Order: sequence, then structure tokens, then C-alpha cells
Amino acid sequence: MTGIKIGRIFGIEVRLDFSWFIIFVFFSWTLAVYYFPRHYPHWSVQLNWAMGILASLLLFVSVILHELSHSLVAKKQGEEVRSITLFILGGVAQIAREPPTPHAEFTIAIAGPLASFFLGLLFLGLWWLIRPFSEPLAALTKYLAVINFILGGFNLLPGYPMDGGRVLKAILWKVTGSLRRATHIATKVGQFIASFFIFFGLFQILAGLWLNGLWIMFIGWFLYQASLKSYQQVLFKDLLQGIKARDLMTRDFITVTPDTRLKILVEDYILKKGQRAFIVTDNREIVGIICLEDVKKVSPENWADIPVSNIMTPKARLEMVLPEDDAAIVLQRLTTRDIHQVPVVEDNQVVGVITRNDLLRWMQVRMEWEK
Ligand SMILES: [Zn+2]
Repeated sequence: MTGIKIGRIFGIEVRLDFSWFIIFVFFSWTLAVYYFPRHYPHWSVQLNWAMGILASLLLFVSVILHELSHSLVAKKQGEEVRSITLFILGGVAQIAREPPTPHAEFTIAIAGPLASFFLGLLFLGLWWLIRPFSEPLAALTKYLAVINFILGGFNLLPGYPMDGGRVLKAILWKVTGSLRRATHIATKVGQFIASFFIFFGLFQILAGLWLNGLWIMFIGWFLYQASLKSYQQVLFKDLLQGIKARDLMTRDFITVTPDTRLKILVEDYILKKGQRAFIVTDNREIVGIICLEDVKKVSPENWADIPVSNIMTPKARLEMVLPEDDAAIVLQRLTTRDIHQVPVVEDNQVVGVITRNDLLRWMQVRMEWEK
């Protein structure tokens, strides 16, 4: 996620995604124009806006504290926490890897909602103390108490990857002993809840509450995507556990030299070998990759003159892996840049190639094996 850095807390970077500003303005506006005027009609416009902005700010402090609570427990479990980012739908703590045990998953997941409930109680206590003295501050603390209870409760819905879904996953993991089965069930529940949100949103739109409805549908859609994505990640990581690039690579690959003319490349390599990409090496050192798409950009009448080195993707722009790299890294390289193969390189020399098909076929076999 992109955005701006606003500071560091306990060594964890806190960032604001640009979408956060939309929700911040939206919340302040809703509070200042609808919520406070309805409950406190005698307040001035200035007071409505001051309380609206203050409430939104403190709401987002509450969200940061929720995420910080996940993060600190994760750090205590030895996990690396990269950052906390606030975006349009709340906050997200970037924890470097999935928790290794059901216990770790459970404690990290439950920490967030517990923090929200604690904040809810805290604001409730403040409301009770302040109530006799200041109506605006009492209104503010009351709102924050309610919203923190809602935050805690919403996050405890048992659909993965929400906190409650992670709790459910941890319990199932502990009971069944299978991370994959636990994730599968928790994800299905997550998709059910997400679908419910989408239909409920649609229902609201049909009832004329289109802003509410759109918002709920958006949350549902986001949760649905998130559950799909995190399930795939867990599945792949589980399948690839302990596998190195060395285990996946093909040692048997064909290379071409930089001065090979495109005509030769097409006639003797691409068409003859039925392969779409070739590693370009110079004295066994990798200098680039040339693929079918590169060649297609050049008009055929020039093929006899142009050498591979003119149009290949040069080494500096290549994604490469080391033989000792984890398979998860290989997967990441192959998917983030949408490329078809990565060379495995050791001391500047290509020792193997991993294509996307190799990896997929390999995962398929593993999945069938473990059924
Ligand atoms: Zn949470």
C-alpha cells in the first residue's frame, strides 16, 4: 500500500494511505452535519465541526491502537512487523509472515478486538466522569465508546481474514492439526459473511438507502477479495514450505548469445524448440532474457540484421533468484511482475530456470499427493 509516513511508534512505521483522507473527511462531515446536530440541536456550526473533526481523529487513533495491539503481540511472538497503514476501511498491520502456530495466530488476532473493547470501556468511563461538566466532551467520549465497541465486535465476526476469522482458524488449526483445512473453513465462513454484506448492501440500495448500501457492498466486496487472496497465500505457502529454488529449477535449459540475429532466434530456437523465452548469456554469464513478445515488436524484414542484445530485457531489469531462495520468494517474483520465468543465478552464472508452468505443475502434484 502506498501513502505517506506519519511517524514511528515502538519501532513500527505508521502510514496513511491516500484513501484514508476520503474516509476522514467523510466521517468528519457526517458527524458535523448529521450526527451531532441531530442529537444536540442547540450546538453551533463551529462546535459541530470541531467535535466532528476531533471525533474522527480520535477514531483513527483508536484504529491505530487496535492495530498496534496486534503488532506488539506479534513482536512479542518474535514476528517482524513492518508497518501499520490506515486506509479507507480502517487499519492494517503488515506482519512479515503468517503466524507459525495456532497459539501465535490466536493471541495476535484476539489482541486487536481486546484493545478496542478496552478503549470502549475507557471512553465509557471518561464519559461517566465528564458528563456533569461538559456536554460536548461527554458527547465525544460517548461516541468514541460506542464506535470502539462496534469496531471490536465487527472485527470479531468469524470470517477469515478478519480477526474473528483468524481466531476461528487458530482454534480449528489446533483441533484438526491441519493449517490448510482450518484456513479453508475460516475462509468459507469469511466468504459467506462477505456475501451477506454484499446482498444486504444491495437490499439497502433497493430500499432507497443507496449511500449506506453502496458502502456496505464495498465492505463486502473488499472482504471477499481479501479472503480469497489470503487463502491462496496460505495454501501456497503451506505447499511450498521448506522448498528451495534449487528444488524447483530446471537445469536443462537452452541459452543464446547476445549477437544471435533475430532471424536465427525465431527459426532455430523459438519455432524449433517450441519455447517462448531464452536466457541470453555471454561466456556463461547472464546478460538478459529474450522472449517472443520482444521479437514480435520488431518488423520481420529487420530480423536478419538485429541482434538479440538490442531488444532483450537486460540483466539489470530482470527478476532473478538464488538457488537457496525459498520457493515463496520465487512465487512472489513470478507473480508481482507477471513474468513467465525466473533464472536461478549463482555467481553471475545461470544454474537453472524456473518457469511459471514448472511451479504450477509442481504445486498441482503436491496438492494431489496430500489430498
Ligand atoms: Zn484487527
